[in-house]
Amino acid sequence: MTHSHTLPYRIGFGEDAHRLSGGRPLILGGVPIPNAEKGAVAHSDGDAVLHALADALLSGLALGDIGQYFPDTDAAHKGLDSAVIVARALELVRERGYVPANVALVVTLDRPKLGPLRAAIAQNVALLLGLPESEVGVSFKTSEGLAPEHVQTRVTLLLVRSA
Ligand SMILES: [Zn+2]
Repeated sequence: MTHSHTLPYRIGFGEDAHRLSGGRPLILGGVPIPNAEKGAVAHSDGDAVLHALADALLSGLALGDIGQYFPDTDAAHKGLDSAVIVARALELVRERGYVPANVALVVTLDRPKLGPLRAAIAQNVALLLGLPESEVGVSFKTSEGLAPEHVQTRVTLLLVRSA
């Protein structure tokens, strides 16, 4: 596979979803969600925000998806901290001369309400990407009862050439 990567800007998009089940922690954007009755069923830590973020980073440069780099069949990835996945995706982006400029992320979850955690999630995502918090937009939606056992995330971001 060849990459030209000459555009000054590149858009990345990623999405992720996990089924929710009792007795598991719910972690979104690296932030443990207090009062979550259910958490993500997953091989890793099930952080749907960070999985979508890592895929958005990779997709911006047509580098595939996180399943190729962190297969869920690999026992070494069990319980993996998803910040490691984001760090690897960011490293691949930087190696190709790009850096993220801003990020917009959407979390669809019926319960609990995430509004009080907006700043914490934005701060942590900003930290992981080396961005100011002002460059991370965080939106919360519910499924209106259509998918109460489910967390869904979508992330779009802009990459800019740095070299
Ligand atoms: Zn995931």
